[in-house]
Amino acid sequence: MALQSRGHRGVRDNQRMNQRADGDTFSDLGLAWNHGFAALGPDFFTELRPTPLPAPHWVGMSSAVAQLIGLEPSLLRTDEALQAFTGNTLLPGSQPLATVYSGHQFGVWAGQLGDGRAILLGETTHGWEVQLKGAGRTPYSRMGDGRAVLRSSIREFLSSEAMHGLGIPTSRALCITGSPAPVQRETVETASVVTRVARSFVRFGHFEHFAARDLVPQLQTLADYVIDRYYPECRASADFGGNAYAALLQAVSERTARLMAQWQAVGFCHGVMNTDNMSILGLTIDYGPFQFLDAFVPGHVCNHSDTQGRYAYNRQPNVAYWNLFCLAQALLPLIKDPELAKQALESYKSVFPEAFMDRMRAKLGLTGTRDNDAELIDGILLLLAQNGVDYPIFWRRLSYAVARQDFEPVRDLFADRAAFDNWLLSYSELLALDIHAPAADLMLKTNPKFVLRNHLGEQAIRAAKLGDFSEVQTLQRLLEHPFDEHPGHDAYAAFPPDWASSIEISCSS
Ligand code: AMP
Ligand code: MG
Repeated sequence: MALQSRGHRGVRDNQRMNQRADGDTFSDLGLAWNHGFAALGPDFFTELRPTPLPAPHWVGMSSAVAQLIGLEPSLLRTDEALQAFTGNTLLPGSQPLATVYSGHQFGVWAGQLGDGRAILLGETTHGWEVQLKGAGRTPYSRMGDGRAVLRSSIREFLSSEAMHGLGIPTSRALCITGSPAPVQRETVETASVVTRVARSFVRFGHFEHFAARDLVPQLQTLADYVIDRYYPECRASADFGGNAYAALLQAVSERTARLMAQWQAVGFCHGVMNTDNMSILGLTIDYGPFQFLDAFVPGHVCNHSDTQGRYAYNRQPNVAYWNLFCLAQALLPLIKDPELAKQALESYKSVFPEAFMDRMRAKLGLTGTRDNDAELIDGILLLLAQNGVDYPIFWRRLSYAVARQDFEPVRDLFADRAAFDNWLLSYSELLALDIHAPAADLMLKTNPKFVLRNHLGEQAIRAAKLGDFSEVQTLQRLLEHPFDEHPGHDAYAAFPPDWASSIEISCSS
C-alpha cells in the first residue's frame, strides 16, 4: 500500500493554527522549538528558506522518529506535514539555516564546504535537530543544485533506520517526500527531500573551518557549546589537568572508536569518510555510497568514485583515526599543549581494538574473555575472506547452528571444509566453557537476519521510481527489527543475486 496524505480535519483540534498576513493558516504540527545552534550567532550559519518543490507526495515515514522528536504520528500523515517536510511551508517557530563547515575530502584539504543542500529547521524542545536534506540551494552549494534524488533519499532513509535497528549510533530519518521536479545527475531523475534527525549535526569539519581561518573565539564558542550541550562530563573532568578541550577530544575519540568497532563488526562500509562527514557525537551520518558487505572482502571499496580505495572496508578504523587527528589539530588552539592532544587521541588505539573484540565475541556468543579469543576471531575472518563467504549469512547461520548444535549449514558455506572444521574444533572447545543457551540467544540478538544489502535497496528504489513505495515500507519494517525472524520474508535474508555485484554506487546523489 502506498502512503497517502490523509485528510486533516480530524487532527486539526490538536494543532495550533497560525494566521499569516495573507490569510493562509499554517499548522505547527504541535512542535515547539529551541534554537541551540542558531544561538551561536551568524558566524556559524546563514539563515534562509527552503526552496519549494511542486506536487509533493509521501514516500515513507517513521512513526518512531515522529514520537522521538515530539510529533504526534497522526499529524505526520497530514498534508500540512507533507508540505512542511518538503520545504514548501515553514513550520511556525522554526528558524531555517544552513551551517558552514570545511573539511578534508579524500585526504586533501577541501576548504569551505557547508550545508550545500541540508537546511536545519532548528531543534525541537525534545532536543532533536531537524534537517531537510535536498531542500534547495544554500550559500554553500558551490556548483551543486541543492537537491537530492529519490534513489539516494530512499537509501538514506532506510539505512538510518536500519543502523538504529542494529543498535549503531546514527542520525535518524523522519520521512521522505518526493516530487516530479526533474534533477539532473548522470540522467534526469526526480527530486526528493529526507527529513533527518539527530541530537546534533555538528561535524569535525565545523571545528576545522574556524581553526583554518584562525578564528579562535568562534572555535571556542563552538567547542564550549558542544561540551556544555553534549559532553558536560568534560567540563567536570580532572583528566588532562582539567583541560576540557582535551577531555572533549578524548571523549570524541572514544565514541568514534566504538562506532568503528560497530561498523566493522556488522560489515558496514561508509564510503565517504571525509572529515565533514564525521559526527562530533560519534554518529553515523551522511549516507551516500555506503554498503553492507555481502561476501566478506576486507579490501572492498563500495564507493565507485573512490578510485584509490581510500575508504575500503578494512581501512575505516585507520581513516577514523586520521580524521580524529585532523580534529585534534583543529582543537589545538584551545587545548594549547600538543602533548595533551596526542594523549587524548591515544585512547582510540586502545578503545577500538577492545570494542571490536567485544563485538566479535558477542557475534561468536562468547560471554567471557580468554587469551586466545583474538586467534579465534582472526582465524574465522581469514577463512571468511579466503572463501569469499557471505558475511551476514555466515553469522546468522552460525547463530542457528549453536542453538541447534548442527554446524552443517555453516560448513556448506566454505569451499575449504577442512580449514573450517579445524576452526570449528577450537570454537567448540571455547563454547563448551560457556553456558550454551545464553550463547545462542546472544548471537541471535547480535547477528542480524536482515541487513540493507545493496540489491534490496535497489529493488525498493526501482519500484519507487514507478510509484510503488510498498518495498520501501516492507524493508523499513524488517530493518527496524533486524534480529527478529519475520516469517514469510526469508527472501530478504537470502544470498544476493548475481546482478548485485554490478550495482555501482558513486558520490552522485
Ligand atoms: P557529501 O559528499 O555528500 O558529503 O557532500 C560534500 C559537500 O557537497 C557537502 O558540503 C554537501 O552539502 C555538498 N553537496 C553535495 N551534493 C550537493 C548538491 N546536489 N547540491 C549542493 N551541495 C551539495
Ligand atoms: Mg556530507
